Amino acid sequence: PIQVIKILMSNGVMASINQTIDFDTAAVVSSELGFEASMEQPDVVEEKETGEIPLWRQLIANEESTQLIARAPVVTILGHVDHGKTTLLDAIRHANVAGGEAGGITQHIGAYQVELKNHPITFLDTPGHAAFTAMRARGAQGADIVVLVVAADDGVMPQTREAIAHARAARVPIIVALNKIDKPDANPDFVKKQLADMGLVPDDWEGNTIIVPVSAKQKKGIDDLLEAILLVADSMEIKANPQGRTIGTVVEAQVERAKGVIATLLVQNGTLELGDAVLAGSSYGRVRAMFDFRGRKIHKAGPSTPVQIMGLNDVPTAGDLFQVMQSEKEARQVAEERKSQAHETQISGPKASLEELFSRVQSGEEHELRLIVKADVQGSLEPIVNEINDMKSDEIKINILHSETGNITENDVMLAAASKAIIIGFNVQPDGSARRTAESEGVSIRLYDIIYRMTEDIEKALKGMLEPEF
Ligand code: GDP
Repeated sequence: PIQVIKILMSNGVMASINQTIDFDTAAVVSSELGFEASMEQPDVVEEKETGEIPLWRQLIANEESTQLIARAPVVTILGHVDHGKTTLLDAIRHANVAGGEAGGITQHIGAYQVELKNHPITFLDTPGHAAFTAMRARGAQGADIVVLVVAADDGVMPQTREAIAHARAARVPIIVALNKIDKPDANPDFVKKQLADMGLVPDDWEGNTIIVPVSAKQKKGIDDLLEAILLVADSMEIKANPQGRTIGTVVEAQVERAKGVIATLLVQNGTLELGDAVLAGSSYGRVRAMFDFRGRKIHKAGPSTPVQIMGLNDVPTAGDLFQVMQSEKEARQVAEERKSQAHETQISGPKASLEELFSRVQSGEEHELRLIVKADVQGSLEPIVNEINDMKSDEIKINILHSETGNITENDVMLAAASKAIIIGFNVQPDGSARRTAESEGVSIRLYDIIYRMTEDIEKALKGMLEPEF
C-alpha cells in the first residue's frame, strides 16, 4: 500500500489507504508498478440509465470479435395512428413466416420472425412509441432498425415527427414504409417532400433514406420492404456471440391461469437454454418451458430470437434487461436486492431530475443538454428553436430532440425520460397524464411565457447553475 500511495501522490492524487480510485488511475499505478490493469467483468450486468449506448450493445462490443456472428436484425414499427402499423405487421407476418408455414402465426407474443431468402428478420409487434420508449428508458433498446409508417394520403403528422425524434434519439436508422399507395388520393411525391423537409431525404432524390411504397391492406411491396431492411442491416454490424454471456430484453409478460408467469424475451447475446437460471428485472426463476413465436416447444434460443418462457416467480416489466445467472440462488439474491432498492427509490423520489443531470454535467459524465420544445404556435416555436440553437457553451452541446406545437403529452414525457431530456414548454401546459408520468419518471418540465426568461434559464443550465424548480 505504501508504494501504491507514493505513486498516487507523485501523480497528484492524495489518497488514503482505504480510498477508492477509478479505473484509469488504477491503470496508471499498475503500469508504473509493471502490471497491466484489466477491467473486472461484473457478475451481474446492471442496467444503466444514460440514454447512451444500450448495455447489451456494450456487452457485445466487448466480445471477442472472432466469436461474433451475424444475427437477425430486430425491427420495430412506428408511425402516426391509423397510418397502418398494425395492418403492416399483420401483412408481414402472413407473407413470410420463417419456416414457410402458410396461414402465418396465430398467436401474438410481442415479437415474431420472418424470412426473406433465408435471411431472418425479427419484428417487435407491439406498435407504438410507448413500447419502444419503455425499452429505451430502461437502457435496453431492442430495435436495430425503425420502420416508419407514413400514409401516402395523409403525410407527415405529429406522431410521425415524434417517431422520427424517438428513432434519432436512439440513433437507430429509419426506413420509411410509404403506406396506402392503393388509395386514389395517395400523393407519394408530396409526402416525400415532407419527409425531405424533416431530413429524411429519399434515396431517389440523392438522399440516404430508403422509402418503400407499400400497401399493407393489399399486401403489396412487403418483400421490397423486407429487402430494404436486409440492405440497411447489411451495412450495420448486426452481430452477437451465441457462445457469450446470455442477455436480452423482456418484450412483454403476464400471468396466465394454470401456466403462471409467461414472459416473452428477446435474446440479444448468448444462448438461452431450458433450465437456465434467469434474472429479469427484479424477478427470477428457472426456464421451465420455452416456446418459439409459433408456440412450439424449443430447448435453446440464440441471438435475435424471441421466445416465451415459463418459470419466473414474478412478472417483469417490458423493457427490463434479462440475463442468465450461475445459479437460481444467485438470481434470487439479486432480484430480492433490486426489489428492496426499488422500494427505497420510490420513497426517496425520482432520480432523473434536472439536479441529477447537472451533477452529471459537472462530473463530466454528460456533455449534452437534451431538450424537447413545445410551443403554442409555429410562429413562436421557430424563433425559440433558433434562439436555442444559437446558444453555445464549451462544455455542453444542446440537442433539441423534438420540437412541435401543442400541449405537452405523455409521449413527450416518455421521450424525455428515455433520453434524459428536459421539456421546455412555451405558452403550453402538460396534460394530466403527462403531468403524472413526469412525476413518476422524474422528468423536468419547465414552462415559460417570455422568451428571454427561457433563454436565461438555458444559459444558466449550460453553466450548471440553474436552481431546480418545484
Ligand atoms: P395503426 O393505427 O397505425 O395500427 O393503423 P391500422 O393498421 O389500424 O390501420 C388503420 C386503418 O387504415 C384501417 O382501417 C386499415 O384497414 C387501413 N389501412 C391500413 N393499411 C392500408 C393500406 O395499405 N391501404 C388502405 N386503403 N387502407 C389501409
